[in-house]
Amino acid sequence: MQDIILLKHGELALKGLNRRHFEQRLESNISRRLKQLGDFKIYTAQSTVYVEPKTESSDTAAAFEALRCVFGITSISRAAACEKDADAMFELAKTYLKDEFAKAKSFKVESKRADKRFPMTSIELSQYVGGLLNEAFPDVAVDVHTPELTVTLEVRDYGAYVHAAPVQGAGGMPVGSNGRAISLLSGGIDSPVATYMIAKRGISIIPVHFFSFPYTSEQAKEKVLTLAKELTPYCGDLAVVIVPFTEIQQEMRKVCPEEYFTIVMRRFMMRIAERIADKYDCKAIVTGESLGQVASQTMEAMAATEACIKIPVLRPVVGMDKEEIVRIARKIGTFETSILPFEDCCTVFTPRRPKTRPKLHEVAAAEAELDIEALVENALAGIEQVRV
Ligand code: ATP
Ligand code: MG
Repeated sequence: MQDIILLKHGELALKGLNRRHFEQRLESNISRRLKQLGDFKIYTAQSTVYVEPKTESSDTAAAFEALRCVFGITSISRAAACEKDADAMFELAKTYLKDEFAKAKSFKVESKRADKRFPMTSIELSQYVGGLLNEAFPDVAVDVHTPELTVTLEVRDYGAYVHAAPVQGAGGMPVGSNGRAISLLSGGIDSPVATYMIAKRGISIIPVHFFSFPYTSEQAKEKVLTLAKELTPYCGDLAVVIVPFTEIQQEMRKVCPEEYFTIVMRRFMMRIAERIADKYDCKAIVTGESLGQVASQTMEAMAATEACIKIPVLRPVVGMDKEEIVRIARKIGTFETSILPFEDCCTVFTPRRPKTRPKLHEVAAAEAELDIEALVENALAGIEQVRV
């Protein structure tokens, strides 16, 4: 008999009428994530998503690891199934949790009974199976308050399950259940973290990268694609939009005062991102900006940056310290790629003394000589899309 995987979805339970929609989204995200790992049956019953391998070759261990990154899941456990019979559950717990019992000094049994026709109450079942396990493993003491090992039994409609304590899932909401957003993905540390955080809120992501060849190298682009790939366990498959940015930067260098380079450049990013958002039905633009981190990340600069567009800019790391952002980057596995040394288009054109408190009319004056619409159109015409 094969192990199965049980998933609980916390926040979804709050969603009332939307619940079925969320569950379906979660199921389809799960099934897409597991496609490479074998043939699985995925269904929801009593607020639990069940993932059952259909063939011997399905890789349940790998599926378990993959599902730990899927948003919309609060806890996840592996379990083995048996008949809905207390003695069968004891026999299964004894063999299935043999290794756990060998390591633990104390244990307790916790039962959940969703099938109310089952003849014992939860407490009776826990006591009965706990007593037998205590005889089978006399060196492991019963401790109902702070046990090292919790044996969980579940009696459900489809069968009974035995599992050890669940581990924490990725939390959040299923990607795609709350719409879509553009995420401006540079090669830095912050924007992959920002992307992860917004995906966690159930948003499906279209990454956009501005690429200034030859000022930034082919490797800088590859780095961004690698980062996007590293985000797919959380965000699902991604199609990265690469926008040619060289012409805009060259024009800007010709006619704009140097101290406004960064802000003018960022406004172009916003305008182009908004047009792409429109095309893909995205409702917001995500950035990795954090207040005060660099000259372009003051409140005034942010105001001037977003003044040229209508859709909201989401900045999930705006109040975080670099250390906090780095901690998340390490956890999700993007940090090592982010610190590779390839330059970003922003670094190449960073002014020596950037304007930290730009006024909107000054920015508009700095842009006056540019044919904004033509530059935006040209950039959009040169877009390349790469699936990772
Ligand atoms: P990051 O660590 O994400 O690169 P940063 O601290 O270097 O951020 P900036 O360079 O000012 O800050 O960029 C702020 C945000 O603008 C980035 O987090 C990202 O969302 C966006 N951005 C910057 N450069 C690019 C780019 N070349 N392509 C796409 N988005 C970019
Ligand atoms: Mg950067």
